[in-house]
Amino acid sequence: MLPLAAKLFVQLTKIPSPSGKEVLLRNFLLIYFRKYSITCRTDRVGNLIAKLPGRGRPLILNSHLDTVNPCVGIKTQIKNGIIRSKGDTILGADDKAGVASILALITKLIEEKLQHRPLELIFSVQEEVGCLGTKRLEYKLIRGRQAVVIDRSASVNSITLSASFINRVEIICRGRAAHIVRSNEGINAITILASFINQINKKITKGSISSIGLINGGSVFNVVPEKAMAVGEIRALKRMNLKKELKRWQSLANQIAKKQGGKIILKSELLIQGYSIKKDNAFVKTVSKSIMRAGFSTVYSAALGASDANVFNQHGIVAIPIGQGRTGAHSLKEAIPIQAFIDTEKILINLVTNIQ
Ligand SMILES: [Zn+2]
Repeated sequence: MLPLAAKLFVQLTKIPSPSGKEVLLRNFLLIYFRKYSITCRTDRVGNLIAKLPGRGRPLILNSHLDTVNPCVGIKTQIKNGIIRSKGDTILGADDKAGVASILALITKLIEEKLQHRPLELIFSVQEEVGCLGTKRLEYKLIRGRQAVVIDRSASVNSITLSASFINRVEIICRGRAAHIVRSNEGINAITILASFINQINKKITKGSISSIGLINGGSVFNVVPEKAMAVGEIRALKRMNLKKELKRWQSLANQIAKKQGGKIILKSELLIQGYSIKKDNAFVKTVSKSIMRAGFSTVYSAALGASDANVFNQHGIVAIPIGQGRTGAHSLKEAIPIQAFIDTEKILINLVTNIQ
């Protein structure tokens, strides 16, 4: 028989919740909480916040409601203790496994009348599209200064101590239009962009990663194009390395424009703030102790991806993502072992009943 968290998870996979359309899943949770008389409210952007009174310092538990696509019509299959989709959709363990684990946890706390810390459950929306839900969360509604974010493709005993700064960069190249028969009078914006992309990938600042993901240019095939643009991203665990890489992009842009004529304009925007928490932080120690009491040794890691933890940390909340044992997030091969739900429950029970 499946443990409650896994059972709930399979149930949640049947409720589609793409980013921005989390309403059905949120309604399921509202009904669940009502059954246990838990106070909850939906904020102005659709985040669901539920509170359970308890003893000691309040603790935030967070998972996000949205999933990436394709997420409609998910059919699960269980083989050798591992839950997967049938292969034509994602599974949605990112992050419905987190949601299910929190629901199973509070069910156990209530049914077994266990003493626990005051809990603030935050189920955020639109995490997958730039943590928009937590960016616009009404922080005045939240008392806790410590959070565990259950949303990470890593083993259940892992704690993510740092995560990336993420910077979006728009590269706009301007040349001079000319008909193909007078092409020597024109400056080809696509050629300028091509040189830039070619150079950018040759050498990347240590401690950062960059990539161009979108490209667009020209208007007609027989005219030297006046405009071309691309959009890329730079990620780095340290702000300093992000700045260095951006500086390198700018100086390359200047060099290429000088050599080939035309212009390269870079428009840069910091999408996500990075964070870094020390291993000897009191809350890190508390979470680590909960992992060890569940029979594991703690693994500390850094993430080049971002999560709602980035945004919480920016708002002065010490937020620690923990692993869920899931693999293949954002792909049709996404999978999660049933054992991961059992282990996560042990860790979470240890954490919330450790009154401080
Ligand atoms: Zn996620």
